[in-house]
Amino acid sequence: KETILTIEKVIKRFPVAEGRMLTACDNVSLSLYQGETLGVVGESGCGKSTLVKLIMQLHAPTSGAICYRGKDLTRLTGERMRQSRRHIQMVFQDPSQAFNPKMKIKDILCEPLRNFKLIKDREAGKKAEELLRMVELPEEFADRYPGNMSGGQRQRIGIARALALEPEILVCDEATSALDVSVQKKIIELLVRIQREKNLSMIFICHDLALVSQISHRIAVMYLGNIVEVLAGDVLSKAKHPYTKALLQAVFPVKKKEGTVVRPLEGEIPSPLELLPGCPFQSRCSESMELCRREKPMLEELLPGHSAACHLLKLQSGKKDI
Ligand code: SF4
Ligand code: MG
Repeated sequence: KETILTIEKVIKRFPVAEGRMLTACDNVSLSLYQGETLGVVGESGCGKSTLVKLIMQLHAPTSGAICYRGKDLTRLTGERMRQSRRHIQMVFQDPSQAFNPKMKIKDILCEPLRNFKLIKDREAGKKAEELLRMVELPEEFADRYPGNMSGGQRQRIGIARALALEPEILVCDEATSALDVSVQKKIIELLVRIQREKNLSMIFICHDLALVSQISHRIAVMYLGNIVEVLAGDVLSKAKHPYTKALLQAVFPVKKKEGTVVRPLEGEIPSPLELLPGCPFQSRCSESMELCRREKPMLEELLPGHSAACHLLKLQSGKKDI
């Protein structure tokens, strides 16, 4: 598997009031393979959106590297940074906010190409029609304005616009979260088809585990700025990290066998301003041990292609070197 994007030990801290620091990403390492959909899931405030902004070069990390085809994006400046943005494009939760209501759809779609001087004015109509076909919208939409369109249609325009530059990586941040379930399903189908046809590498960020599991080849689970588990999408039910298991039980309640205790995910997410030493999940984990309060567990491979950051799992897999 060829790696197209590597996130290496990325830390992002933000200064907040009273000289305190908020840790939004805490030593995140993650790879994106060519042609895969990588789902990133977690509750709100877990650092997903910060991770997106780091990948899109909208934030600079406090430390660490983000390498696209071996080049560290965080070190680029000026024109080289601008050019590198062509290869990684984004679909937003609500694209309509990014659309100028006075612009025709064809101009909205071709704007990214114009910004990079990749299109002549007389080619815009044809290009727009091609992009509209790709997202299964009628070509007549090219001459319309973004008002009076349904949420699903607007999101198709958002996807078409993101694809105009033929990026290698598409980042979707809660791209279907604002849509009705039936519309959401169609947008997911569209993204899956386009991903396959173009062999796109896609990062699909979402708080909805059920949805992420439908679309992703691999899933990374985030909690309080940390990746706590990475596993293949089709073995999601075999998740091992106590946090992922709690999330799963909330989404896919298992039929209780006699005597089985189903523990719901209890308690609040601790404030990222007051991080304790040790495991980020310790305050909500029913398996927490003394070691969990003392030492932070690292993300380690439990099985081929399945990693987790948990002392208990490491002990159980017999690898703990004490
Ligand atoms: Fe729970 Fe400890 Fe594992 Fe953290 S390291 S998830 S507290 S068992
Ligand atoms: Mg978010």
